Amino acid sequence: MPVFVVQKHKATALHYDFRLEIAGVLKSWVIPKGPSMDSDIKRLAIETDDHNLSYRFFEGDIPKGSYGAGEVIIWDKGNYEIYKDNESPQTPEESYKSGKIEFILYGKKLKGRFVLVKTDMPGKNKNWLLIKRHDKYITGEDILKKKPGSVISLRRID
Ligand code: MN
Repeated sequence: MPVFVVQKHKATALHYDFRLEIAGVLKSWVIPKGPSMDSDIKRLAIETDDHNLSYRFFEGDIPKGSYGAGEVIIWDKGNYEIYKDNESPQTPEESYKSGKIEFILYGKKLKGRFVLVKTDMPGKNKNWLLIKRHDKYITGEDILKKKPGSVISLRRID
């Protein structure tokens, strides 16, 4: 199964970098408000540069003067798979190209079905929305507040 990672990153502004392994790279989205486990909440996810697969292991400090300077923690990680039904594309790459990725996360914090869907706002072609699909994992709790730290260390960014 392909991998995913969510890196919490305190650069100029705190945000979450959501990355899915697609076609040999980490396709990446900046989620300013972070993911939610509430299916009523849509979170803006702005597509950004692809990252090398090995970047999923990065936790630490991006030095001053470098792009994105500040602290990074691995907020969640795990595997994912495309949610398959009869209508939707069957591979990560086809899903990505279609502008709608229906997937299941097997993370330590994020679990179950989600969709990333490209918006059609004019001039905003990098804008997608991340939405939790309805399943047994939805919760009214704010997972960002409840589980703020790293999943691989004791580091946290508050
Ligand atoms: Mn970032």
